[in-house]
Amino acid sequence: MKPTDFLPLTRRPSRYLGNEINACHKDWNEAGLRVALVFPDLYEIGMSHLGLHILYHIINEIPWALADRAYCPDVDLEKLLRSEKVPLWGLESRRPLSDFDILAITLPYELCYTNILTILDLAGIPIRAEKRNNPIWPIILGGGSCAVNPEPIADFFDAVLVGDGEEALPEIAGLVKNWRKTGGDKNEILTGLSRVDGVYVPGFYRPRYEKDGSFAALEPRRPEAGLIKRRTVSDLEKAPFPSRPLVPYTQIVHDRMGIEIARGCTHGCRFCQAGITYRPVRERSPQKVFSLLEQALAASGWEELSLLSLSTGDYGCLLPLLITLMDRYTPENVAVSLPSLRVGTLNPEIMKQIQRVRKTGFTLAPEAGSERLRRVINKGITEHDLIDTATQAYKLGWSNIKLYFMTGLPTETVADVLEIARLARKVLASGGKRGRKVTVSAGTFVPKPHTPFQWERQLNVRESGDRLELLRSNLKGRDLHYRWHNPFQSFLEGVFSRGDRRLTGILCRAWRMGARLDAWNDHLRPDLYRKAALEEDIELEKYIKAIDTKAPLPWGHILTGVSNKYLLDEREKSRKEIYTPDCRHGECQACGVCDFRNIRPVVHEKEKVRASSHTQSSSHQIIQSPNHPVTYHLTFSKLGEARFLGHLELVHALHRAARRAHIPVAYSRGFHPKPRFSFGQPIPLGTESLAEQFAITLTGYMKPGLLKNLLGEAMPRGIIIRSAEPVGPKTSLKIPELVRYLISVPGVTASQMKCSVEKLNSTAEWPVSRKRKGKQITTDLKQVVESLQLIAEKDVEDGRITPWSWPEDAKYDELPFFDLTLRSIARFNLKPAEVIGSIMGLSGEMIKMLRILKLGFSIPKSP
Ligand code: SF4
Repeated sequence: MKPTDFLPLTRRPSRYLGNEINACHKDWNEAGLRVALVFPDLYEIGMSHLGLHILYHIINEIPWALADRAYCPDVDLEKLLRSEKVPLWGLESRRPLSDFDILAITLPYELCYTNILTILDLAGIPIRAEKRNNPIWPIILGGGSCAVNPEPIADFFDAVLVGDGEEALPEIAGLVKNWRKTGGDKNEILTGLSRVDGVYVPGFYRPRYEKDGSFAALEPRRPEAGLIKRRTVSDLEKAPFPSRPLVPYTQIVHDRMGIEIARGCTHGCRFCQAGITYRPVRERSPQKVFSLLEQALAASGWEELSLLSLSTGDYGCLLPLLITLMDRYTPENVAVSLPSLRVGTLNPEIMKQIQRVRKTGFTLAPEAGSERLRRVINKGITEHDLIDTATQAYKLGWSNIKLYFMTGLPTETVADVLEIARLARKVLASGGKRGRKVTVSAGTFVPKPHTPFQWERQLNVRESGDRLELLRSNLKGRDLHYRWHNPFQSFLEGVFSRGDRRLTGILCRAWRMGARLDAWNDHLRPDLYRKAALEEDIELEKYIKAIDTKAPLPWGHILTGVSNKYLLDEREKSRKEIYTPDCRHGECQACGVCDFRNIRPVVHEKEKVRASSHTQSSSHQIIQSPNHPVTYHLTFSKLGEARFLGHLELVHALHRAARRAHIPVAYSRGFHPKPRFSFGQPIPLGTESLAEQFAITLTGYMKPGLLKNLLGEAMPRGIIIRSAEPVGPKTSLKIPELVRYLISVPGVTASQMKCSVEKLNSTAEWPVSRKRKGKQITTDLKQVVESLQLIAEKDVEDGRITPWSWPEDAKYDELPFFDLTLRSIARFNLKPAEVIGSIMGLSGEMIKMLRILKLGFSIPKSP
């Protein structure tokens, strides 16, 4: 089977198409180096990860290099690939992952580790690096947030990049390309990689343990094996950013245009790993952010943008940037979201700007309920700040405030947990009137490597469950909502974040027993990890115990730049509740990261942002009579792989295509303005069509030919605009009376098909039993089928079906076809696949494999 053959059989197949808007598709044979960027979780998570988009852009900008992508397949596709023995492929090239030169695997969080095994195994690549000595295998390279302690997964990787990838990845790519060209052995490339700053080659080190089982040291096996210093991009202003970002069809978790306005946060929260490992603060200038957004939004058509950083509220020029963005994009109904806001950074002016277009969610993270505990963790916010911000937010129209907390922070008591509930009620009360809500989200504190709390103990699963339950029982009440993070997931996160190489065996065993997609609650199997730990004779709980501050650490060879002394001092200060100020605006706190030549804080303050005249919307140039809305009816075809776009995906794709084409679409009024599109009856997923229709209302008159051409050029592959006709102010589309389809049935003969036609035509009734909304209903198929006949090769040659333009990729070798006309009766709503499945007695799988083309429809004549 080819990769595309799986598409009809999988859930949400648009995830595996690889032809998203702005996908590169470089020539495989021309490329001197092929890199597969792999995200070890489902597509909807991986496509939301900005880092992968940046690296995709960087590699594809290199003339001799090709970047493709792969994500962890969902369990249904994994099962199919295994049963058909088809290796996992790169989405765009559709080449097996084992054909690539480098698999660059992102390490975003610990709960994706078993997915790495799924991906390597499905690709047919040996899982352990020691089994890949033959240079035919791709170099397996890791990188990302978890690279600061790669030990639990070190045995799977040839090399791990620690720190920023923008400069290091092209260096690595160049080395691997030259190595491939000269035909050297594996040892040669590993030695070369170990000399690249920030690259760790795990095979060059050997762990040693004490007799009591504690970690003793990571000993070098080779002279090249030294300490690994994190790579840091000194100037974010010059760092590449995708000007033509990939735009997915399916809805992803962060379905918007994200731009990194700053990297690093020096606020100094003592539990926060990113606050240490991404130091110092490096801001992009607001002018640069604006110009990057202009390009990226024009090329993508996103309807929402998000300003990303570890603490967006701390960005030096947030207000001028927001004002410029709002002035520029409010008329185009582009929403702006700021996902990570810190209490104390939000002033009423900023909040007023955010709510100008759409009130996206309002989330605050006090982390701890009591003032005392917030001092311990150096959160630096008071209850007064929090209540003040919440009151402002409610006043400005937000109705639901989300609050994030952690339980199990060092020194936490039961009283601190109860303080969370009290604080949540106080926030709710600050809303003043009914209808206001507070949603509390709580998780368990995980002591992370390289933080001042890296030596602390973590609550075990039972303790964590007890505290979360205590919180739940105290959060009862109208308009108070509660969500908590699964304690076992936090436990696993704690085990693997501070783990060593002995955990590799547990991972492999749990995965072989079926552990998959552990970050998803509905897939997590704690029993498998417990069993694997027993079989490996390893006590998982020992990894969440307190660590002596003098003990060697499994991640001790990775240097983030922050000194151990600083971490210990911060730990000490936490016990004394002493505040450490943010170095961004004031005194250096001597954490050790900056050399103040190349690496130093970069903060932009009091800078203006100009929106130059050419950046203004070009919509007005193509409209002839603005402010007099006109509705157009358009017809289009949906062919080839576009048939795997579901109805909602298609709707989104059309909205974004209209934005990319600068079509001046009219919007509805009200709180959430929506573009004025309306659609005919949705066709089932997997069905091609020559006869789809939708209506669009523009803010004025536009030549229909121009509308057809502009929109047509911006459409996803396989969507072809056939006609556009102005119809006045009305938007409604007529409901078809009859719909005609051609249907081929793989694996059956013409005589079997003929037999089915005769059987149906000779019977008076054909009851079909189906489940709809949980109820069993029976429909008489004869009432729905207007006609059914067989078209064999001869009929095509005779020209019997020429009135319909034949889709390019529908081949004659798929003949014979059923020629089926259905009456469009809403209460029956029988799909063509159900009709053919019933009359031929097909299995569910065979029904999915039917190739169906909607040829056309007829509209009832007006009385
Ligand atoms: S070295 Fe000083 S200025 Fe640089 S990040 Fe650390 S505390 Fe801040």
